Amino acid sequence: MDEPKSPPQRSHGRKTMRPTLVPRDLMEDAPELASVWKAQVITLLPEAFPGVLGLSLTGRALKDGLWQLETVPLRQFGEGKHRNVDDTPAGGGAGMVLRPDIMADTIDHARVRIAPMAPLIYLSPRGRPLTQKLAQQLAAGPGVTLICGRFEGLDQRVIDHYDIIEVSLGDFVLTGGEIAAQAMIDAIVRLLPGVLGNEASTEEESFSDGLLEHSQYTRPAIWRGMEIPPVLMSGHHGEIAKWRRAQSEDLTRDRRPDLWEAHQARRKTD
Ligand code: SAH
Repeated sequence: MDEPKSPPQRSHGRKTMRPTLVPRDLMEDAPELASVWKAQVITLLPEAFPGVLGLSLTGRALKDGLWQLETVPLRQFGEGKHRNVDDTPAGGGAGMVLRPDIMADTIDHARVRIAPMAPLIYLSPRGRPLTQKLAQQLAAGPGVTLICGRFEGLDQRVIDHYDIIEVSLGDFVLTGGEIAAQAMIDAIVRLLPGVLGNEASTEEESFSDGLLEHSQYTRPAIWRGMEIPPVLMSGHHGEIAKWRRAQSEDLTRDRRPDLWEAHQARRKTD
């Protein structure tokens, strides 16, 4: 007989941890903090988390309880002695597909532990692209449940049944969704209030108004014979803002005609 299917989740961050050194206590379900933005990650590799999210600004914010992270290990809902989660593709072909029944059990278990309004997202190269706008929308909500695929991905029926939104990191194929999930969580968490020291910096950076950011410089004033553009050293804030704006526009026009066109179209309708 297998053990009953009630796997412990691992919660990260100060607010979800109790002051104890007993490992089993740390693995127990932590009390929910309804108001704190929560990332829930369904994965075959829970040990990949928090990964880079546990470091630097996102790591400090996690410890300070500005956001919560919970991994839901797919393997613990697997079938049989080997906790099987996948099977061969219907119709033949290479690789393995994640089983819909196992994924559904995992999703059901996860979804009662997060606000119902939190979207259910599958990281997938077939998805809509991850954009700054989507990150902003998700940062404004209660959190997100992310499904990391492995092998050939998920059975389509589970995507249809739960109306799962597919989101892609870009037009390339990763071996699994974990790196994509971490990238997505990072893009969202840095927009949460208090996570970045200087909040103005998220308003001016690339994509925030549909343009790429201007170039940045710092000391030394002359490096290998190259100067910092003098206007940046002038102390004239109006001129600096104008120079930066012009640079943003030039860069966007040259490098990303798609963004430039969208920016022009928006300007016409404003
Ligand atoms: N056979 C699939 C690729 C599977 S790659 C296809 O051709 O579409 C295995 C897993 O990696 C996917 O299930 C997905 O979760 C993740 N993945 C791969 N590329 C990704 C991308 N560009 N964006 C987000 N997730 C990706």
